[in-house]
Amino acid sequence: MTAEHSLRPLPEGTDTEIAVVGGGLSGTLAATLLGRSGYRVTLIDRHHVFPREFRVEKIAGDQIDKLRRIGLLDSLSTAAAAFDEIVNVRKGRVLDRTRARHYGIFYDDLVAAMRAELPKAVRFVAGRVSAVEAGPERQRVSIIGQPDVT
Ligand SMILES: Cc1cc2nc3c(=O)[nH]c(=O)nc-3n(C[C@H](O)[C@H](O)[C@H](O)COP(=O)(O)OP(=O)(O)OC[C@H]3O[C@@H](n4cnc5c(N)ncnc54)[C@H](O)[C@@H]3O)c2cc1C
Repeated sequence: MTAEHSLRPLPEGTDTEIAVVGGGLSGTLAATLLGRSGYRVTLIDRHHVFPREFRVEKIAGDQIDKLRRIGLLDSLSTAAAAFDEIVNVRKGRVLDRTRARHYGIFYDDLVAAMRAELPKAVRFVAGRVSAVEAGPERQRVSIIGQPDVT
């Protein structure tokens, strides 16, 4: 489908104060915090469900503190495997050990766990953003094809 023939504005009723394009971890967390702050937010991503990708996600250190601060650590820890030691071994020799709390999780599971915590005020739209037009009063986000709004 070419963009020329299928550029459409978001459907009726999808006016929003803030559109977040990209619902990976960053966009999902941004939408969550903005939604909690009372903004009408629309989160737009190409994928309804984030596809499995090779990203070896290890959440540790200040990432844990930040998720705790925003109240999302429980959701992470439920979906992830917690471990407290990493041993780096090469040719049978221990290179180093790190002792600290870590969470191991597939990235798509992480995104799914965080998306599950999106506030009700955040509308999720599955679709590929193809254009953003700025205007004096209104901005318009166009997506390719028929968007799937939830
Ligand atoms: C192999 C590997 C291992 C890694 N290991 C770790 C680790 O252990 N710990 C760690 O903290 N980080 C790790 N990272 C980095 C981490 O995965 C990234 O920093 C993080 O995923 C970035 O998140 P993001 O939300 O910015 O981007 P993404 O998760 O890539 O999200 C971008 C989103 O935008 C959407 N999108 C793009 N274009 C459009 C469009 N036109 N319209 C609509 N939607 C669109 C995509 O569908 C996607 O969902 C690793 C990365 C890789 C590749």
